Amino acid sequence: MNRLELSEKIIHTCLEMTRLGLNQGTAGNVSVRYKDGMLITPTGKPYELTRPEDIVYVDNNGKHEEGKLPSSEWQFHLAVYQARPEANAVVHNHARNCAGLSILEKPIPPIHYMIAVGGTDHIPCVPYATFGTHELADYVREGIKESKAILLSHHGLIACEENLDKALWLAHEVEVLASWYLQLLATGLEIPLLNKDQMAVVLEKFKSYGLRIEE
Ligand SMILES: [Zn+2]
Repeated sequence: MNRLELSEKIIHTCLEMTRLGLNQGTAGNVSVRYKDGMLITPTGKPYELTRPEDIVYVDNNGKHEEGKLPSSEWQFHLAVYQARPEANAVVHNHARNCAGLSILEKPIPPIHYMIAVGGTDHIPCVPYATFGTHELADYVREGIKESKAILLSHHGLIACEENLDKALWLAHEVEVLASWYLQLLATGLEIPLLNKDQMAVVLEKFKSYGLRIEE
């Protein structure tokens, strides 16, 4: 896809994020790998008003094109592309249940076999750092190596994948898992978990599962 098509796809993904109930206001942001850097949503612009020409190119050194301001979270988007060479798309949001769980600073344990969507047996939760900082990008760089989806403490979710459709799908799956886990925690009951062997079987099967969703 060329730059215009990728920019249109970014905006479409943002609007889909709202339609799926994954977004609070203008909180989320979306990017795709492009040339030696990425294309990312601009800062502080409602998705409904964002045009393809508003999407910002940021190079691998963090330099953005003149006259446009990238999302304040551009540093952790770049960190994801540097940490995961196979990732071509990053979705970030403050979805209700992911953000809620992130406040408890809790990873999502293997409560359900779909936990394997991130590529490991839990959805990690990386430590808190102020939004838009190098420190937060460093936590993301480490966490995303472990799983394609991670919670950010007291903040929200990041999901990365081969393309935007898959990244959005992953973000939605993790929001569903987060909603189940929050509801389970609220019962105060002991929560049975799948064991290492059971998750290993699922993880093996999932190596081809993601291929069902193609762009
Ligand atoms: Zn955020």
